[in-house]
Amino acid sequence: TALRSVLTAKVPLKLGRMCYSSSVPTTKLFINGKFVESKTSEWLDIHNPATNVVIARVPKATQEEMSAAVDSCSRAFLSWSETSILNRQQVFLRYQQLIKDNIRELAKAITVEQGKTLADAEGDVFRGLQVVEHACSVTSLMLGETLPSITKDMDTHTYRLPLGVCAGITPFNFPAMIPLWMFPMAMVCGNTYLLKPSERVPACAMLLAKMLQDAGAPDGSLNIIHGQHAAVNFICDHPVIKAISFVGSNQAGEYIYERGSKKGKRVQSNMGAKNHGVVMPDANKENTLNQLVGAAFGAAGQRCMALSTAILVGEARRWLPELVERSKALRVNAGDQPGADVGPLISPQAKERVCSLIQSGVDEGAKLLLDGRNVKVKGYENGNFVGPTIIGNVSPEMKCYTQEIFGPVLVVLEADTLDDAINVVNRNPYGNGTAIFTTNGATARKYTHKVDVGQVGVNVPIPVPLPMFSFTGSRGSFRGDMNFYGKQGVQFYTQIKTVISQWKAEDATLTGPAVTMPTMG
Ligand code: NAD
Repeated sequence: TALRSVLTAKVPLKLGRMCYSSSVPTTKLFINGKFVESKTSEWLDIHNPATNVVIARVPKATQEEMSAAVDSCSRAFLSWSETSILNRQQVFLRYQQLIKDNIRELAKAITVEQGKTLADAEGDVFRGLQVVEHACSVTSLMLGETLPSITKDMDTHTYRLPLGVCAGITPFNFPAMIPLWMFPMAMVCGNTYLLKPSERVPACAMLLAKMLQDAGAPDGSLNIIHGQHAAVNFICDHPVIKAISFVGSNQAGEYIYERGSKKGKRVQSNMGAKNHGVVMPDANKENTLNQLVGAAFGAAGQRCMALSTAILVGEARRWLPELVERSKALRVNAGDQPGADVGPLISPQAKERVCSLIQSGVDEGAKLLLDGRNVKVKGYENGNFVGPTIIGNVSPEMKCYTQEIFGPVLVVLEADTLDDAINVVNRNPYGNGTAIFTTNGATARKYTHKVDVGQVGVNVPIPVPLPMFSFTGSRGSFRGDMNFYGKQGVQFYTQIKTVISQWKAEDATLTGPAVTMPTMG
């Protein structure tokens, strides 16, 4: 409750048919260690996706507020970057404990704004928490390199140093995990951080900021602004910001990558996906079907690593009716309702888009094997619900295949051989994730070797790497050089300084100026 009060005057943590007729609470900005009310005249409504009732409003921060946030980051960098690495580590050790202690509270704040089930929301927090835990290893992660005696009396060593002010722009689908991919890693390395959370789900980021403050992060080390395009442009253009981390759609991500890079910033941009699950006939049928159903429809398909496309190879085609039966059994309900498997989509517009992509499949000759468009959820008739949907007989030129649907829709293709399946996956422009289901090691090896996708699961439907590795989506799903978290995350948020020093013995005096290029030989 103490945490909740930082957010808004009253955040409705109980779902249901709640209605705010007059005072809709407002989301604060977090500037220089204070949760402040924006002076803007432009506000956006936040809806509970299960009811479409307006539950809060979020400001589009003014230019002055955004400038104040960056200035605060700049000032804080001077001391935070000089704070000993052990003290920075201590802040994040306390932070991980606070997140663990408040996981339920965070999950509730996610469910009410984002819609996903409470259990799934806890998973969202947990995967972010793991990055915080990993960030606590900073004393090893930030080690430089040394090489003594590269020539007589001369040694070389490198330091990893923070960049300065870094910024993050996040999507709606993981309100905890994705912000936690960003600022803990950046800050533990000595940077200060400006976060612009998704304007559709800002509450969780505010709670995370409060906990970080409680863990001892000094004022100004993290600032939070809210908004849409103007805030994004501000971040891309501001000369003090040295690096931008973005996660979201291709439309926004490609724009931010180009605009930020042109201004000389480092940019890492994780974007959209179309992830294929290739099902071989020798797979463990029971496990494969359960995993496919979970990975296609969990979080209502609103995961960048959802398995949204199945390719059934050879005899595995016969499993389709059973796949449909299992999918039908999932319970569609508001995220806080016991037993809910599939929550609502984020907005009525998202629902409309998903439904029209389903219809496009029908119009282009695909076969609708399970249609979730008319699902009714008792007590939540105004929610953005779409039930599990399966489209069969899909071919690669159909719109339902070429576009990221980002809803509870599984499109099913068929292939005669593994090679045919690999060709389909490799022709798709996205490269975020894929999985193969098989009991044959040679088949698995061939697939992992030949498939041109950055993250591959073998009998693992959602292969999101733990933070000692990095999130390595590729091709159309990523722009940049260094990926999120893990070793690459540390590289992204640090620059290297190389020191070459020579300490000659007293009698080794130079006899004159050396004007030729030093070869150090
Ligand atoms: P989105 O691109 O609409 O929004 C992401 C952020 O960008 C938000 O903060 C938003 O304010 C801003 N934004 C939106 N449109 C913009 C524009 N035209 N110009 C500049 N900024 C803009 O994404 P979303 O709908 O919130 O999230 C869903 C998308 O994110 C899906 O495509 C999903 O695949 C992708 N995603 C990718 C990963 C990954 O790691 N690859 C993870 C999660 C989500």
